[in-house]
Amino acid sequence: MQNHPTYPRLLEPLDLGFTTLKNRVLMGSMHTMLEDIPGGHERLAVFYAERARGQVGLIVTGGVAPNKAGLALPVGHPLDNEDEVWKHKVVTDAVHAEDGKICMQILHTGRYGYSEHNVSASDTKAPISPFPARGLTTDEVEQTIIDYVKCAQLAQQAGYDGVEVMGSEGYLINQFIVSKINRRDDKWGGPYENRIQFPLEIVRRTREAVGENFIIIYRLSMLDLVEGGSTWEEVVHLAKKIEKAGATIINTGIGWHEARVPTIGTVVPRGGFAWVTKRMMGEVNIPLVATNRINSPEVGEQVLADGCSDMVSMARPFLADANIVAKAIAGKPEEVNTCIACNQACLDHTFTLQVSSCIVNPRACHETELVIAPASAPKKLAIIGAGPAGMAAAAVAAENGHQVDLYEASGRLGGQFNMATIIPGKEEYQQTIRYYGVMLEKFGVNVHLNTKATAEMLTGKGYDEVVIATGVTPRKLDFPGVDHPKVLDYAEVLAGGKPVGKSVAIIGAGGIGFDVAEFLSHDFDHPSVSLSVEDYMKEWGVDMDYERGGSLATAPAPLPSPREVFLLKRSKGKHGKDLGKTTGWIHRSSLTMKKVNMLAQCTYEKVDDAGLHITVAGEPRVLDVENVVICAGQVPLRELADKLETSGIKVQLIGGARNAKELDAKRAIKEAFELVAGL
Ligand code: NAP
Ligand code: SF4
Repeated sequence: MQNHPTYPRLLEPLDLGFTTLKNRVLMGSMHTMLEDIPGGHERLAVFYAERARGQVGLIVTGGVAPNKAGLALPVGHPLDNEDEVWKHKVVTDAVHAEDGKICMQILHTGRYGYSEHNVSASDTKAPISPFPARGLTTDEVEQTIIDYVKCAQLAQQAGYDGVEVMGSEGYLINQFIVSKINRRDDKWGGPYENRIQFPLEIVRRTREAVGENFIIIYRLSMLDLVEGGSTWEEVVHLAKKIEKAGATIINTGIGWHEARVPTIGTVVPRGGFAWVTKRMMGEVNIPLVATNRINSPEVGEQVLADGCSDMVSMARPFLADANIVAKAIAGKPEEVNTCIACNQACLDHTFTLQVSSCIVNPRACHETELVIAPASAPKKLAIIGAGPAGMAAAAVAAENGHQVDLYEASGRLGGQFNMATIIPGKEEYQQTIRYYGVMLEKFGVNVHLNTKATAEMLTGKGYDEVVIATGVTPRKLDFPGVDHPKVLDYAEVLAGGKPVGKSVAIIGAGGIGFDVAEFLSHDFDHPSVSLSVEDYMKEWGVDMDYERGGSLATAPAPLPSPREVFLLKRSKGKHGKDLGKTTGWIHRSSLTMKKVNMLAQCTYEKVDDAGLHITVAGEPRVLDVENVVICAGQVPLRELADKLETSGIKVQLIGGARNAKELDAKRAIKEAFELVAGL
């Protein structure tokens, strides 16, 4: 047995009897959309090989359907015939060439499919799919099990080291297990024992078909988080039977996709659901994997040290950084580019049918397209502005051999991200500032803080390129009373620390309006950023004692807002409809729990001592508020760029300075990488 001084448990090999994993880190399943596009498997091969080279113990692929009915979208390809095998072989060969191990996840979406051919345990419709599902006939249930087994055999033929049977997150297997969806009167329905026969037969017959020396992971829904979900006793019973049926490892599934409790968003405390797997420890004899919001070697080590599991799963963190394990082995955790759990470039992409990537690492899933080679003719660069775009450009350019001066007018790195870090539940954004800060130092960038770059300062220094990443400034509005002392802009509140009274109206309900509403509806003496796991579960209505099936409490119990908050917008419709596909609902639910008043169709008339005068859908109203905070978007800070251009110096603009309208860190960091790729 090896022992590592810094991560003794995380980096300890795991003996599965017939094979040994290098360490206790599992790269969890993620659908990247590369699975579904021409040439995608070649790109997947490069993506997974890079992670295998990074020493991860075991990789699990995105879900692959065992038949057409199990596809998430009608356009995908199930692994149901030998003609599909070669594509997968491209992936397994690449991973094995790096001495890695890889399992293929088998996923039948059931009623979660986006297709008029959806099937389920009974006739039903999922709240998150527009398409109803038809109940499978008894013969079709048999055929579906046969399809699972055949899919596993084809995966074995394709060279995978094993399969993961997806039995959680509300997909088909879950739909068989809970009685509110499974209303069958044949042998696959009725009592719990009958309802679990579907997954048990899948695992039992798969083991028979693939032999002993093939990994079978079963992803067990340990916490359904939906009404009518399994009780803890039922979950344990199923785990024991799954072990007996032939599973090698049990992975943890937390929450169905339709659950109204955030399970992976950045609001979830790190390692926040490891307690669930811990309840299962000792109930079975095969290794258990803890999941959800484990995003660094430290968190992984802590989960194992706390006796929560035998392995830890990280999925999105491997988009952010292919080398988490290698960096842990090297004892350099400060060099890990940490996943901030924003979902902006991964899940939000998948759910809008775009290839996944990562906000902090735009190369993820684009390894063959966004190629940054070491500079053959190194350049001397001045980069102005040390927000996410400027920091990323400087770090990546210096890593590739360019000589870089980074100028920042303020006294610290991070730009707009510094404001994000103080929003309750967004403290992870600090990690991106830390990571790029470490990279700037590692690659020898000359950082000039408290230095407002001027055209005169930059002229005559021999810069080959000047990159303007000066970002944005809040948009000023123009209506009577806008300069009243009670009116502030978001930067004055978030960065300037200006006090805000007991009642406040926020003008503008975009991403920043939501952030400010979240900030102001928390009590700063007890900020949610430090919510313990117990408080988080209470706030979102999760019963850690598992009194009822699904483990939901009777009601969420959020801490009350310390002030009355109005969140206003001019446009019609739901607040936050343009926020991230997979996170917008979290922000909306959070503000609703805090009783934030959301008003649409507002016209801003004036501000005076009486408050903010508005009309709401034509009806006049005065909001008697102590403060008004303006969050009405931004304008670019381009003054320097304009001056440089008139003095004949070539500049390139990235991030908010280039386009403030759609300012977001995903675009800003991607532009930084693309700029360096083109140097
Ligand atoms: P934004 O999303 O464009 O929202 C600004 C809001 O201000 C608009 O929704 C608009 O709403 C209102 N507005 C614009 N011009 C106005 C005017 N002249 N008078 C009154 N209201 C006006 O910009 P943001 O909130 O500053 O966010 C900037 C970017 O940061 C976003 O693109 C987002 O990607 C990113 N961000 C995202 C999040 C998140 O997803 N949680 C959080 C923070 C930042 P109406 O027209 O409806 O009034
Ligand atoms: Fe993590 Fe955000 Fe990157 Fe997704 S986009 S992997 S959530 S940092």
